[in-house]
Amino acid sequence: MQPLPSTQPWDDEDGFHEECGVFGVWNATDAAALTALGLHALQHRGQEASGIVTLAEKGAFHAHRGLGLVGDIFGDAKVMASLKGRCAVGHNRYATTGETALRNVQPLFADFEFGGLAVAHNGNLTNAAVLKRALVRRGCLFQSTTDSEVFVHLIAISLYANVVDRLIDALKQVQGAYSLIALHDGALIGARDPMGVRPLVLGRLGAGEGGAYVLASETCALDIVGAEFIRDIEPGELVIINNDGLRSIKPFGRTQSRFCIFEYIYFARPDSVVEGTPVYATRKRIGSELARESHVEADVVVPVPDSGVPAAMGYASEAGIPFELGIIRNHYVGRTFIEPTDQIRHLGVKLKHSANRPMIEGKRVVLVDDSIVRGTTSKKIVEMVRQAGAKEVHMRISSPPTTHSCFYGIDTPEREKLLAANHDVEEMARIIGADSLAFISLDGMYRALGRPGRDAANPGYCDACFTGDYAIPLTDFEGQPERVPTLLVANSK
Ligand code: SF4
Repeated sequence: MQPLPSTQPWDDEDGFHEECGVFGVWNATDAAALTALGLHALQHRGQEASGIVTLAEKGAFHAHRGLGLVGDIFGDAKVMASLKGRCAVGHNRYATTGETALRNVQPLFADFEFGGLAVAHNGNLTNAAVLKRALVRRGCLFQSTTDSEVFVHLIAISLYANVVDRLIDALKQVQGAYSLIALHDGALIGARDPMGVRPLVLGRLGAGEGGAYVLASETCALDIVGAEFIRDIEPGELVIINNDGLRSIKPFGRTQSRFCIFEYIYFARPDSVVEGTPVYATRKRIGSELARESHVEADVVVPVPDSGVPAAMGYASEAGIPFELGIIRNHYVGRTFIEPTDQIRHLGVKLKHSANRPMIEGKRVVLVDDSIVRGTTSKKIVEMVRQAGAKEVHMRISSPPTTHSCFYGIDTPEREKLLAANHDVEEMARIIGADSLAFISLDGMYRALGRPGRDAANPGYCDACFTGDYAIPLTDFEGQPERVPTLLVANSK
């Protein structure tokens, strides 16, 4: 597959892109509206498309999907009125596999012999192409190019009688990362892969028999609908929610937990609590560790907004250097208001960020950002800060060097385009034009998460993009470690 074309004229395809967000509710008045609100809170996890499937009386499913932001797709009262029922599942998409087209927008829906089933998936399967080839040979007709459709066909061909057994049968055949929510006539089902790479939380709306269960990618989506956080769905756990309550099963046996450590650094919303750990506080602690590891004499600490803000606060307070918003982010840059001509592309980062000159001029600046991917954005930001009169620019990064691609649901460039995969820190500093550059160490990152350091035998987190330690097999990519993670599914179209 060709890399997805940029939909934003200022987006030079540098940086990580979020994955997807999922939300589901069982037995609530206004299930569709709650789901739209939940998806709105999860907008940061995917901005390309959204969909909601609701269940009204038995067998009556209603669906609406669209390309764009949640508010644009579900802001129409007629659309919301058409999504009848007390149960719903929703999905925000950022394409990590498959093209940007309506046919790839989730939740996917299919009619089986047991009735209708809607599936919303966050993550990326690493044997989807192998499975897809086998399924196509058996006569399965794929309607989309997303890896998630593999679930639908595996459920369809399963010989088990009931839907939960069929789903487990399907999940046992897939490799990779998934947090998924499925909705059928009899239940709302939440599932996390055995290593729990992507998040999924359980909440409760109201008490007693009239209460509703909610499943969501992050706690911020529970907060927006007023649901009480109950707990994280555990790695390898399935929860089956119906009118009798909630049942939990763990059909996969025990494995090491490998939750994505990058959720703490960048992906999750700062007001979310992930796996019992508040994201905002963790980011501040990472900043403090970074300051201890790579102190530099400076006059001001400036975050690259928004994701660099908590780490910069932690850095500034640990280093005893004033924190200032020396870069201002424009939050109101729309998607399509300017055609992406070459001249506009050249403006690049300035459409999104601008220097707050009085806070920078004549000062030694510590710039704090969450990551360096290709380095193009960092270079432009350093240049912008210099043009605003900074005397020195010292870049500090609140993640270790990103040396490997992610195959588990985060859109990253192929390895050869990752700056840290090809250059040492000194060379990187020269390339981005900084006076000095430092990354938090692997051990420092683990210390910020309350561990003594990284335990190589059982790190407890996925950190493959920093270490190359891929705990889940990369079956579709074997022998081709340099390839773009999205390639295979598209190849098998
Ligand atoms: Fe997260 Fe990196 Fe692992 Fe991907 S490779 S799941 S981004 S830690």
